[in-house]
Amino acid sequence: MLKITGIETFYGKIQALKGVSLKVEQGQVVTILGANGAGKTTTMKSISGLLKPKNGTVEFLGEDITGMRPDQLLRKGIALVPEGRAILSSMTVMENLEMGAYHRNDKEIKKDIEEVMGQFPILKERREQLAGTLSGGQQQMLAIARALLSKPKLLLLDEPSMGLAPLIVADIFKMIREIKNAGTTVLLVEQNARQALKVADYGYVMETGKVIISGEAKTLLEDARVVEAYLGKKSTSVEPKEQVRY
Ligand code: ATP
Repeated sequence: MLKITGIETFYGKIQALKGVSLKVEQGQVVTILGANGAGKTTTMKSISGLLKPKNGTVEFLGEDITGMRPDQLLRKGIALVPEGRAILSSMTVMENLEMGAYHRNDKEIKKDIEEVMGQFPILKERREQLAGTLSGGQQQMLAIARALLSKPKLLLLDEPSMGLAPLIVADIFKMIREIKNAGTTVLLVEQNARQALKVADYGYVMETGKVIISGEAKTLLEDARVVEAYLGKKSTSVEPKEQVRY
């Protein structure tokens, strides 16, 4: 469904991606793991049109989509839930959900919003509340629900569990499983490697702008290099993330 070949993406003169290739098959959950600064977010941005790779190609359903704009890609069926969620805090939950469907003009929108609120009852309860007043976990649910309202074929989730308490993290992973069961393909960037590999079919590990390991998720769960670097402790707690920003 998605095929990235040899992409190289730069921030000015800094080369963040040094020839990344990966594939996502229809119906799969594929995860990208790696330490801070490995290039995971840059990969997601290069797929979703927020950054344009200098070299290499991104193909979606057989079409070369390299360098297309995010709104064009949304119409083709690629929705991104960015790191940090980017919900519209001064709008209500309902208005955020409606924004998710802004480019659609079919008659199903109302029904789909009701359906999504059935899936996420807390959003229904808080439909008139300003999104900025929701808890971190609820904001993440809203961001995912909003992306689902664009009816994506491929959902890109960038660190959905970041900064959330373990119990909420478990809810987020349960939600990813449900999204997969409903037939949506998911590309998931996570620091929570163990949980990500448990929900995923296939995984890629990145380091300094390159893919260094890839394989079936269940194989990676037992790969000595992955265990040592990313799965060392069994705890499901989420460490606060070190911010590396320019
Ligand atoms: P994180 O978990 O910290 O988001 P990541 O694996 O997603 O890590 P990226 O954010 O893709 O990593 O960063 C890849 C590289 O690009 C890093 O060396 C980072 O410092 C650099 N980088 C990221 N954003 C920028 C930017 N806006 N300007 C310059 N360099 C950047």
